[in-house]
Amino acid sequence: MILGVIADDFTGATDVASMLVRAGMHTVQVLGVPHDGLPQADAVVVALKTRTVAPADAVAQSLTALAALRAAGARQTYFKYCSTFDSTPQGNIGPVTAALMAALGTDFTIACPAFPENGRTVFRGHLFVGDALLSDSGMRNHPLTPMTDANLVRVLQAQTSHTVGLLRHDTLDGGGPATQARMARLRADGVAIAVADALSNEHLLTLAEACAELPLITAGSGVALGLPPAYARRGWFMPKANAADLDTLQGPGAVVSGSCSEATNAQVAQWLAAGRSALQIDPLALHQGGQSADTVLAQATQALAQGPVLVYATAAPESVRAVQQALGVQAAGELVENALARIAQGLVQAGVRRLVVAGGETSGAVVQALGVQQLRIGAPICPGVPWTQATLAGSSEAVQLALKSGNFGGVDFFAQALQQAGVAL
Ligand code: ADP
Repeated sequence: MILGVIADDFTGATDVASMLVRAGMHTVQVLGVPHDGLPQADAVVVALKTRTVAPADAVAQSLTALAALRAAGARQTYFKYCSTFDSTPQGNIGPVTAALMAALGTDFTIACPAFPENGRTVFRGHLFVGDALLSDSGMRNHPLTPMTDANLVRVLQAQTSHTVGLLRHDTLDGGGPATQARMARLRADGVAIAVADALSNEHLLTLAEACAELPLITAGSGVALGLPPAYARRGWFMPKANAADLDTLQGPGAVVSGSCSEATNAQVAQWLAAGRSALQIDPLALHQGGQSADTVLAQATQALAQGPVLVYATAAPESVRAVQQALGVQAAGELVENALARIAQGLVQAGVRRLVVAGGETSGAVVQALGVQQLRIGAPICPGVPWTQATLAGSSEAVQLALKSGNFGGVDFFAQALQQAGVAL
């Protein structure tokens, strides 16, 4: 293993894994730290759920992941966080970075959430989301991690006692050696974490080249794009043309959707407008016993004979609010997640081998119901959402999963994903 990645959430883990695969690294994502050791691959991504937990808990979990990655031989460690630098005034980016630095015995690293292809750029230490400063973007109203300051040097400095500095874009314009020279000067001046600018993919590639031999990199998924070529130049590995290849599976395809985002509502509407087969979950009927996961599953299984089926709880905001008022936010979410997870499990038992899941929490519930512990990462369907392949718990059977968080994907995402996996529509 060359690279060990510790990701602070599940879909973020898939995002960075997808970047590595795209650049030719055979990559496996594990869900939490497995008890029986890590799989072998060029890169292993450990998906944690530490973005908003207490800093001490995030540190402890990240150190456990680091120990497993080091035991498996990782040459370099990558702490992956969100491209909008999602964190609270207490952390967890600062505390986790400091703990990983201490454990790795290093006194210098970078911090760079930039991902220009997705509109996230860092200029003179300030993070932009499209044309807006982070603090003017929708992120200022995030329920858990509101980001009200775009100056990442200041944001990160508030989370750590290490000195935070700045590695500017005009230094990156000078190429890898100039960037390394600047990093050496920053380090000599006592800077422990340098927030790095990046306005283009070119900057990310230069940054990755300059940082390929640091024990630790902290970043969004963007920097990962440049690491495989930097490793290849050092002769550490050969990019593989088949890194994204998954097996060719037979068996029907299906879609399970529990996301109520704008994008997912449009995707469900598109599927229905195309006249494809679909079954709707009604949370209130589910609660009152007028509908059950097993009856919907039976109908869905029957429908598979005619082609892929969509089972959805996806609904417009007014309807979701009404359900939440009647049942409570938490209870409504769990009721629907449990039903969809049960249905996904039943569909896979009925032979489905290509399954699209819409919704971050919904994906978590489905993966748990299937007993999946690791995912081999395949080709992207859209930026950030690759096909993945898992082995079903208690068997050697494979299943392919496309796990889409809320707002990703165009209106035709479901059909596009299934077609890409070879499912006839
Ligand atoms: P996203 O990635 O879009 O945030 P998630 O799956 O993470 O999607 O979250 C959606 C949440 O909404 C889940 O807890 C799901 O169970 C719940 N949910 C789905 N459909 C409905 C509905 N019709 N009414 C109320 N809650 C719903």
